[in-house]
Amino acid sequence: MFYKVTYNMEFKRANVHNNGCNFRCRGCSYKLKNGGQEIKPVGLEQIKKTLGKLDVDRVHFVGGEPTTNPELPELISFVKNDLGVYACLGHTNGSNIVDVDESNVSIKSYTDKLHVNYTGASNANVLKNFEKAYSMGIKMKASTVFIPDHIDNDEIEKIAKFVAGIDESIPYHIVGYVPVPGTPWRKPGYEDMKKASRIAKRYLKNVTFSCLSKEEFFNLSSDSRYKSVRVA
Ligand code: SF4
Repeated sequence: MFYKVTYNMEFKRANVHNNGCNFRCRGCSYKLKNGGQEIKPVGLEQIKKTLGKLDVDRVHFVGGEPTTNPELPELISFVKNDLGVYACLGHTNGSNIVDVDESNVSIKSYTDKLHVNYTGASNANVLKNFEKAYSMGIKMKASTVFIPDHIDNDEIEKIAKFVAGIDESIPYHIVGYVPVPGTPWRKPGYEDMKKASRIAKRYLKNVTFSCLSKEEFFNLSSDSRYKSVRVA
């Protein structure tokens, strides 16, 4: 269900938030947030009305996993065709394709066994969908959470090779793992991240990384790119 719409006035961007996901990632950062918060649905008509009143250039769909929401295709069509605004999957696990202008796919791992272990699901569709979405003309971006000794440099290299095999100019962002309670993995250091990004850069032209502390992760709204107010 959709449960919230937020708005960033500076970047003229609205975010439509969906609750729920079809993966069960062991290191899911949502386990760090939303603790005990009551989530109530916001109806499709109310979202359309709210978006229609905002001065927006782009609408991002975020999750959980936004593509699990059966109302998403209708909302995307409203955003693109009725509002004439750029529609973007702000983040997705890549398990489904929807008709957006841009899609930011988090590729958890290239090795399927590892993917099953980490998410509870195979990555066969994720990799297939990434390629297909690119061939449909969707602007693709990829990212991976770097987890030392788990989803490590060898996986980053395989993913970078895979993405470069489609288009070496696809942007790739490596996210430093923020430890989730109950998991055995440590947070990577700056040098770990630099090394992972150097490896990815052997294959891809546009590689970036971030390595937030838990405090910075919780304080993302102090960065103007993420600052937003709730509007529905
Ligand atoms: S795909 Fe994303 S939202 Fe879903 S469980 Fe994994 S990290 Fe969490």
